[in-house]
Amino acid sequence: MNCKEAEELISALIDDELSDLERSSIEGHLRDCPRCRRAYQWERALNREIRMVGASVVAPVDLRQRVLSDQRTTRKEGKYSNGASKLILHLQPFLRPAFASALLVILLLSIIFLMQRPSQPISLAALQSRAKIDKGEIPLQKATNTDELHDWLRRAVDGKFGPMGYDFSPLGVRPIGGTVQEVEGRQILVAVFGGNGLSITCFTFLGTEEDAPKNATVFFDPETKIQFYSFSRNGINAVLHREDNTICILTSNMPPEDLLSLVRISSPHKHRHGSTA
Ligand SMILES: [Zn+2]
Repeated sequence: MNCKEAEELISALIDDELSDLERSSIEGHLRDCPRCRRAYQWERALNREIRMVGASVVAPVDLRQRVLSDQRTTRKEGKYSNGASKLILHLQPFLRPAFASALLVILLLSIIFLMQRPSQPISLAALQSRAKIDKGEIPLQKATNTDELHDWLRRAVDGKFGPMGYDFSPLGVRPIGGTVQEVEGRQILVAVFGGNGLSITCFTFLGTEEDAPKNATVFFDPETKIQFYSFSRNGINAVLHREDNTICILTSNMPPEDLLSLVRISSPHKHRHGSTA
């Protein structure tokens, strides 16, 4: 299930209107997708507030009595004043403090939600294209040799930047191909590797650590002084880190801990500082 499909089902989930299959499918998505999970939590909180408001606008006894006596008097006084008194009765609930404070809560919730909602950062876009690559929806420039693939990618952006020199051959993971994508005006080099039941896709682009999703888990490696940002989506795990002005995101089907140690161990940065491979 993708985010668009999930968004369409969130209201039905809250209203308990889904089939078992739909329910387990969206619950799976909510587990993996923090953005949809927030949307779900927000809508559920909003629903609760709306129900509270509904309960608080039930008119108190004295108001009801006034309404009834008012109707009686207006009937006596004639039909013209009837409209005006009805209008006041309709407005009455809005003037009540409980209603006003519930409205304020709704407003605040909306503002907090809007502030938290990430503006689809480039790293999430990378994970989306990874899913498309896995489905074969994005054509790749085939490669059998890592150096050749990296040279091709570097030339594709006129040598402005290039993939970090990862070599996964000790894991039996070999280069498959590459492509260049553009997200919000930025070029992303994509290098795809696979083998031994593992698949690794590397995304390289010019950026800053601000490009990491806000909900990523951050790991600091005291040895290399590099911060690693770990995040996941739809069963694909990712680790982002920065070297100078270049951002590298490795995505893989391997568990997050394994991916993190792979990135740290095989970091080309480490090699430059003379550590053994
Ligand atoms: Zn989602």
